[in-house]
Amino acid sequence: MSRIALLSEAVASQVAAGEVVERPASVVKELVENSIDADARKIEVMIRRGGISMIRVVDDGTGMDRDDALLCLERHATSKIRTGHDLAAIATLGFRGEALPSIASVSRFRLSTRERDALAGTEVIVNGGKLEEVRDGGDAHGTQIEARSLFYNLPARRKFLRTENTETSHVEHQLHLQAIGHPGIGFVFVRDERVVWQLPPAAHLLDRIRDLSGRALADELIELREGDSGGLRIRGFIGKPGVSRSNRAQQLIFLNGRAVENLTLSHALREGYHTALMKGQYPVTFLFIDMDPAAVDVNVHPAKREVRFRDGALVREAVVEKIRGALESGRQDWTRSFTPAPAPLPELPPEPDLIPPREQVSLRHDWSALPMQPAAPALDKTEAPAPRPAPTARVPQNFKILGVLGKLYVLMENASGLVLVDQHAAHERILFEELRRRMEEQGVPGQRLLMPLTIQVSPRDADWLAQNLPALQRVGIGLEPFGAGTFKIDSLPQFMRGGEPLQLIRDVIDELREASATSSKMRLGEDVIATTVCRHAVKANDYLREPELVRLIQDLLACDLPYCCPHGRPTMIQMSYSELEKKFGRKV
Ligand code: ADP
Ligand code: MG
Repeated sequence: MSRIALLSEAVASQVAAGEVVERPASVVKELVENSIDADARKIEVMIRRGGISMIRVVDDGTGMDRDDALLCLERHATSKIRTGHDLAAIATLGFRGEALPSIASVSRFRLSTRERDALAGTEVIVNGGKLEEVRDGGDAHGTQIEARSLFYNLPARRKFLRTENTETSHVEHQLHLQAIGHPGIGFVFVRDERVVWQLPPAAHLLDRIRDLSGRALADELIELREGDSGGLRIRGFIGKPGVSRSNRAQQLIFLNGRAVENLTLSHALREGYHTALMKGQYPVTFLFIDMDPAAVDVNVHPAKREVRFRDGALVREAVVEKIRGALESGRQDWTRSFTPAPAPLPELPPEPDLIPPREQVSLRHDWSALPMQPAAPALDKTEAPAPRPAPTARVPQNFKILGVLGKLYVLMENASGLVLVDQHAAHERILFEELRRRMEEQGVPGQRLLMPLTIQVSPRDADWLAQNLPALQRVGIGLEPFGAGTFKIDSLPQFMRGGEPLQLIRDVIDELREASATSSKMRLGEDVIATTVCRHAVKANDYLREPELVRLIQDLLACDLPYCCPHGRPTMIQMSYSELEKKFGRKV
């Protein structure tokens, strides 16, 4: 007896809907994408009860004629691609021809559409995938689609829906993505008959960000300078160093106008930020990548969130470079604040010593003999490197130290106003860059172990290690292959005191795996440096005399990334005169 039967069209659509329509937010996503593909200038999204009770999307796009209005509800009916060849270079958001039939199969569905110059439009009613009615209709030109009682015919699915508030926040996040991705389109979001937000078409992305996320966030961003690299155009805005979030909600990436999630890109962002991002935090980005559609595959998942790059390494390098460049160029703002002389202070009687001399910590003493010196007597160390010459390209720096607050915060004045510096964080940054420079120039001396250790790793990790032995040697890690998957560790970086050597090697393997081809060698061991300098930097209660404070600030300003410590925390906070004026109510 034969047991195989073709599924009915309705059931097949429900199966497909399982992948495309997960929750109200996925319906909103598909409908809004269709409106964008139809060249809409204005899109209005209305939901009731988290979208479970009703979702309506209204656009002023091209609309459809009667034939298309019926055909668009068939599975695999699309106007966006024609042949398999077209799949190789997709320029629209949709292309699978699955969304409308899927949505119509799991809801009470109404489509009303009219082409711009048509006399009459068309209205189509479908319930749970069954065509109920077709009639003349259509009010304004464009398309209006309504899905009510989502999953009313799929109780199993309906049970998986969360509370109204949760579903609403997913819908809202989806709309955020679309609104940021398409600033030129006006958006209105109505929840339970209340207008939540209304966004006019924006001429510039930053205007859209400000309208949607507020001025405070917009002020925390730096612009990526546009430019081509390897057939890739990267533009947008990213958070200044030290600006971060505890989740990925503000890490937005758009590829050819489509919001995407992609591990390669997430890694690239993290690597670009590097020490400007606190551990466990996520960057704030509005990153737009435009590239040849043929170099990326978006046909990975029915929801089209995932993408696959033909040359992932190239994309990654380009993103890392762009982010790093932008963060470092941000230092010009700081430089500017320190260049002109601070406004003259009113004449005051000569001041006594800023801080009464008590137990003093000498910064300079530590300065020249930084933590390259082993804490314990070295057993057999290679030649210690000469100290790095002081940075040469010093910009003139004008600031006036006013005092130290709470034995930690250096208070000073510069051309823009008041600056607060965390002396510990500042010293960490200085030591970090100094050590890193030495490491790049001379390598880190290794300290031979009395008793070599062995480490066992997986075959793939063994491969990584074997390929990177010279790079490891440069950071003072002496490794030697020692039989299948085993390595002998015979030296470790000199400045590494205590710590768990095997853990260090495992961390280094992870770093190697995560880092991109060009930067990996340079950044190996930076985590170790960061932890090391933290131990050696001046502490909160350490007392610094004025010349040392001046030296600290000068050295900080000469750093590549002066505004945050190697762990991504800020080193300086600038409070501008205009902020002060606002606080004192002199200005609104
Ligand atoms: P896809 O977007 O993958 O083509 P859909 O099922 O989402 O598949 O839509 C099917 C077709 O219906 C689209 O290709 C498009 O021609 C038409 N369509 C859908 N929504 C709209 C709309 N808002 N305005 C105009 N045409 C639309
Ligand atoms: Mg679509």
